[in-house]
This record gives sequence, C-alpha cells and structure tokens, in this order.
Amino acid sequence: MIKVQSAEEILNEFNNRHKLSDFISKYVQLTPRGNSHIGKCPFHNEKTPSFTISDDKGLFYCFGCKEGGNVINFISKYKNLTFRESLKFLANYLGIEILYDEKFKTNTYKRFYEILKTCNDFFQENLNLNKFAYNYIYERIQNREVLKKFNVGFCPDDIILKKYLLSKKFSEDEINDSGLFIKNKKNEYFGRFSRRITFPIFNFSNYLVGFGARSIRESKIKYINSPESNIFKKSETLFGLKQNFDQIKKDEEVILVEGYLDVISMYNKGIQNSVATLGTTLSEIQINKMWNFSSKPYVCFDGDLAGKKSIEIISLKVLKFLVPGKSLKFIILPNNHDPDSFIGQNSVQEFNVIKKNSLDLSMIIWLSIKNSINDFTPENMALIDQKISQLSQSIKNNIVSKEYFKFLKNQKDKFYWDNNKIKTYSNEKKTNSIIKKNLNDMIFLMFLLFEENLSEEFHEEISLVKLNHSTLEKFRMKIIESYSNDNKLEGLSNLDFFQSNESKLYKELSSLRSTHIINLTDKEKKIFFKQLIKNLRLPIVETERETLKKEILMCKDKLILDKLIKKHDEINNEIRSIRNKLLE
Ligand SMILES: [Zn+2]
Repeated sequence: MIKVQSAEEILNEFNNRHKLSDFISKYVQLTPRGNSHIGKCPFHNEKTPSFTISDDKGLFYCFGCKEGGNVINFISKYKNLTFRESLKFLANYLGIEILYDEKFKTNTYKRFYEILKTCNDFFQENLNLNKFAYNYIYERIQNREVLKKFNVGFCPDDIILKKYLLSKKFSEDEINDSGLFIKNKKNEYFGRFSRRITFPIFNFSNYLVGFGARSIRESKIKYINSPESNIFKKSETLFGLKQNFDQIKKDEEVILVEGYLDVISMYNKGIQNSVATLGTTLSEIQINKMWNFSSKPYVCFDGDLAGKKSIEIISLKVLKFLVPGKSLKFIILPNNHDPDSFIGQNSVQEFNVIKKNSLDLSMIIWLSIKNSINDFTPENMALIDQKISQLSQSIKNNIVSKEYFKFLKNQKDKFYWDNNKIKTYSNEKKTNSIIKKNLNDMIFLMFLLFEENLSEEFHEEISLVKLNHSTLEKFRMKIIESYSNDNKLEGLSNLDFFQSNESKLYKELSSLRSTHIINLTDKEKKIFFKQLIKNLRLPIVETERETLKKEILMCKDKLILDKLIKKHDEINNEIRSIRNKLLE
C-alpha cells in the first residue's frame, strides 16, 4: 500500500490516477461540455447549471457562487468535513495510507515549493547575466520568448546560490532539503546544478517540483535531475506538458521525445505538442496521461542505435498497459538524427511526412521478433512462436492480448511464406543462371504461361509488374498484349515468340512448373502467386516512394512540395492497397 505524509501527495495521487469529474459525478449529475463537465451547483440553489469541472486542471468552479478548488476542497465542503477528515476520506477512496507522524503537516511542502520557485526566478536572471551560458543555449534555440516560456535558466556557483537563498530568509535546513545541494562524504554540501543550464520540471498538478540541468562544458554527465523524493517523482511528470498543454489538447495529439531540448526546439519550430520523459523509460502513469489526450501518442526518438534500443524497450514495456483502442505510433527518424537536429535542418512539413509514415506498435513488436532470427530452421520458427506467446501473454488486457497473438501469428506465417518457400526452390534448381538470378520473374512467367485462370483473375496486377530482365519483360508484354486482344490467354504456349526465339526459355518454364507447383492445390497456387506479384510489384513502388522522399527533403518551393507530398500519399495508398489486396 502506498504511504503518504502530506496533503500534496494525496492530491498528486488523485490527479495522477483519477478524473475529478468521475469523483464528483458520484454526488452531482454532470454532463460533458467541450473540455469540461458541467452540472447544477451543490453549494447554492440554481436552475441552470453554472458548476464546471476541468479534469485537466483537477479543479472545479461555480460561476454562480464563486465556490471552487481541488478535490480536497470539494469533499470537505460537500460533506462538511475538517481538512484532516477530508484527507482521510480521500485516502480511503484512493486506497492509500496516511502516515501521521511528527513530520506530517498540511503544508509540509509549502516551503519546498517556495524555495524552488525562488531558484527558478534567480536562475533565469542568471542566464541573462552569464554570456557564455546564454550564447550556448541561444545557439540552439534562437528565440528569447521560447527560452522564457520554458523558464530556461542558469545555476550559478553554490556559494552564490546559497547566499542568495539565505538572503531570501530560507533556513539552512530548508536549503539542504531542497535537493539543490548534494551532501558529500565529509558532510559538506555542494551545488547539484552549479554552472549548468536549468529546466524547471512541473508535475501534473502544475507545481514546480524539480529541475533538470545540462552541462555546458565537457562533462561526463550531460544531464542531471533533482533527486527522487515524495514530491519529485520522475515517473509522474512529463517535461513540456505544462507549456504545450493547450496545443496537445486542441490537436488531440502528443509526441513523446527524449530530451528537454527536443521539446523546446520543436516548440520553437512550431511543433508545440511534444513532451519528454526525464531520462527514464515510460511509466504507467505517464502513458495513461498521454492516453488522456490521444489514443495513439507518437514516440519520436533518436535515429541512432541507442534510440532504436529505447524504442524497443518502450514498446515492450507499454504492451503490459495496453487496453482496447489505445496504442502508440513510432516516428522513425533518419540515422544519426534526433528530433532537434532533424527539425533544425528540415522543415515542419518534412517532419510531418516522416510522421505520416510512422509505424504501429504492433509492427514494431513484430519487427523486433523477426529481427531476432537469421535463418528459417524449425528451431528458429519455434523460437518465434515462443516469443509470440510470451509477448502476447505480457499484455494484461485479455482482449488485446488475444488480438496481438493473432496478429503476430499471421505476420509469422506471411514471413515464413515469403522467405522459406522461395528460398527452398532456389536451392533445388541451380542449373541455369537466368533462373538463379531471376527466379521470382521466372516463376511469375511460369504462372502466366500455365495458370491461365489465375492470370486472368489478376490481370490488372500483372500489368503493373515490371520485370528487370529484358527477355522476360518482353515475354510479359506479349502475354498482356495477347490478353487485351481477345480477353483470353488460351493458346499462349503456341506463341510464335516462344517457338522460334525462346524455345529454351519455354523448356525451362515447363520444368519449373513440374518442380514448383505441380503438387500444389489451387488454393496454395493462388496464395503463392499473390505473394509473387507482391514481391515483384512492391519494390517498384517502394523505390518510387524513396525517390519522392528525397525530392521532398530537397524541395524548397512550397507549391511543388505540396504536390510532392500529395503524390507521396498516393503512393503510400497504393503500397497499402497492394499489401491489403494481395495479402488478404
Ligand atoms: Zn454555486
């Protein structure tokens, strides 16, 4: 059971896990309106509702009688309880225990909040005074207003800071307990953030609860944070949520990035809906908070190996908490880019293109399974099955768990079919180099030649495929021509083309037929053929898409860019439809 020692902790517990409207609706009938809830005020008599609740802020307010406050204020007023009784009531509701000891005060943390706020103001003043620090941050974020918005500051040497705090009438104890100083082995205190750029961190109740700080010189430790305490819990904050709140709410979209500077530089570029964890993996409280705003928050981490590792860790972690309808999407940045550097060198539109191509959580999970094996032995196939079972079972929600199992199994079957089948064939027949080099093309032609029903059924798809080998491509064209002439493919095997020029090719196709499909059922043939078309068609459109992407990245003209993006969307749709049509 969670044990707390202060009213603030109870309030945080409530705000982290509950909605005020759910709580109040036990006592007052509420209806949702826009971003809030509204009902008839329980504290004065009224005919039309003027009592409003904001879940985002955890506050209620009555426009009639001006009564307002947080959940503690509500329950104490509604049930006519003393402050302490209200806390007890809420602790019961939350299933937590209050430790009343000599430390317990209703405002234990009032001075803690005050000292942090005083520091925050002082740090910001200091940033303007220290040219080196100011230039360092201004090089990255060239906008004074943005630096102000995020209260970016600079922490001076500890002697100066301490002197300043003492002059503001904080006691030695209060200063030492603030987390701003670290005690060494000799019981001496020294500054935790000395000579670092500071970023204030707010909790979900919008209290300033700690700092993150970045070194501006060569330092082994690039970032340090305030120490974990009852009030500062890294897993219960999201950096940037306070500043980006309105936009996130409005767009119902939130992007999780890795660092403070990512959030701030994205904001500076006009992407004002990102948040960052503080150097930790995603916690249940953080993911739930993001799900309050968007059913599919984006994750956008660095494009390097470490970033990819973090993506894997987060995706595995979040599985546990999945519920129907909630997920994550992953924006994959080009290698060696982080959001800060990518947006620094590209435009928001370019970022949006990459965002559009983000991958679903389920696909990330499948790729992590797939990439863990490198051949198709029965042992490795079994290993995949084992991983699929383990990962699906790690999802607490039963319904989601079952769906994941189905999805991953399905992916495995397709994967096996894509790779194993064709690979086996290529091992069987090594007689002719044209076959070896163009096996997929050859099998495709063999189908065209000997499986007329399938060829007619898929004539549209066949017409979109292009073969690399010129002789084979000529043959494909012939067949399409023959098809469009009389709508039938019969008599194809008697084509002059074959008899005269390519009788050798004909023989090879015949022999491919006997080694490859003669023992397959009609259904198996059809699956095989569809797979082949997919394998032949997809690389073509995917190459087109890559070319387009490059054009988009280079394009500086807005009109052209819009056109390119539109075309890119169309190609994306085609790729999707090829996949869907052929894989159904
Ligand atoms: Zn009222």
